[in-house]
Amino acid sequence: MNILVINCGSSSLKYQLIDSDSEKVLAKGLAERIGIEGSVLTHTPAGKDKVVKEAPMEDHSVAVKLVIEALTDKENGVISSLSEIGAVGHRVVHGGEIFTKAVLIDDEVIKDIEELSSLAPLHNPANLIGIHACEKNMPGVPQVAVFDTAFHQTMPQKAYMYGIPYEYYRKYKIRRYGFHGTSHDYVSKRAAEILGKDRKDLKIIVCHLGNGASISAVKNGECVDTSMGLTPLEGLMMGTRSGDLDPAIIDFICEKEGKTVSEMNTILNKKSGVLGLSDNLSSDFRDLCDAADNGNELAAMTLDTYAYHVAKYIGAYAMAMQGVDVIAFTAGIGENSYGVRSRVAPYLKYFDTEVDDEKLKIRGEEMIVSNPGSKVTVMIVPTDEELSIARQTLELVK
Ligand code: AMP
Repeated sequence: MNILVINCGSSSLKYQLIDSDSEKVLAKGLAERIGIEGSVLTHTPAGKDKVVKEAPMEDHSVAVKLVIEALTDKENGVISSLSEIGAVGHRVVHGGEIFTKAVLIDDEVIKDIEELSSLAPLHNPANLIGIHACEKNMPGVPQVAVFDTAFHQTMPQKAYMYGIPYEYYRKYKIRRYGFHGTSHDYVSKRAAEILGKDRKDLKIIVCHLGNGASISAVKNGECVDTSMGLTPLEGLMMGTRSGDLDPAIIDFICEKEGKTVSEMNTILNKKSGVLGLSDNLSSDFRDLCDAADNGNELAAMTLDTYAYHVAKYIGAYAMAMQGVDVIAFTAGIGENSYGVRSRVAPYLKYFDTEVDDEKLKIRGEEMIVSNPGSKVTVMIVPTDEELSIARQTLELVK
């Protein structure tokens, strides 16, 4: 069965068509600037060059129509008709406490996702637009919602409560939810598979280090803690997001700089993290690593701080799980960045674990990087969120 995986943003729509038998990507693409002047669809059929089509897309429904046209196009298409799409899997950011796993979408599910929009005002409404656009253009094709938060719903209460008045949890469900769940689930499963072990027998720490970054503790197959919180702002310092900080800093800067809380929210989301700490050098770790290699002290300090924070979370989660068997690095930085991985590696010596420095230089490959005899197995496991969404979709529709 072919499964169309959709990741819908407020003005963009990413897609992959995956053959669930071979698990191969038949085509992928991105519709950008939806509802804005200059909309463009980039469609890449497997093994062929990308095709760029500029076409007005007044809304997401038009974008989905164009995606279907591209997929069924005589020259660059990969299927002959819409009937070859067996199901659609949607990435949905916030499933709150309602959704603990992927679900087949019906009116009630839509209502629940709508209600959860207060917890993810930028994401859930956009995800819903994608769902409605697919319903309109593909009537009768089953649609599945796969939630970023679902994998983390196994966390015990002590891991997800904040030390603030309980009434805020009662009234607004303010608690830790965690994100990147699809990736943490996929990577922890895959790490166990590579080792020929059952995930249920392992304590795994997954370091998803991308532009957004989070770490999770996966004990016996279940998430027991994760670094992102009510929103994806908490936890590690990221490309442009601050991660953890003393909440009193917000009031302090507002006072000093005459800013509103909403302006501070933008600063913490868009102007902080490694971008802010490096004094606006870059949010991209390639630039920071190059600069640090060329003697830029601020870039080196930023990378050292980032790596220290990663190491602190690893230490905390080893304690939380009372042990750790596997540490898996994934996402853009985790899969590729020697500069970051080599800075985290020395901390792992505390676990009687040494990594092979030459292996840390290899990019984007599944591999074990710890030396034989190390107490903890350190691995690189490229993530594949789309494949994971396709698998979860298939499970519900087959
Ligand atoms: P993601 O959000 O998972 O796509 O990760 C994006 C981030 O990965 C970028 O901001 C880069 O900082 C980082 N990245 C990607 N490729 C490399 C590389 N070859 N070396 C270092 N960092 C990389």
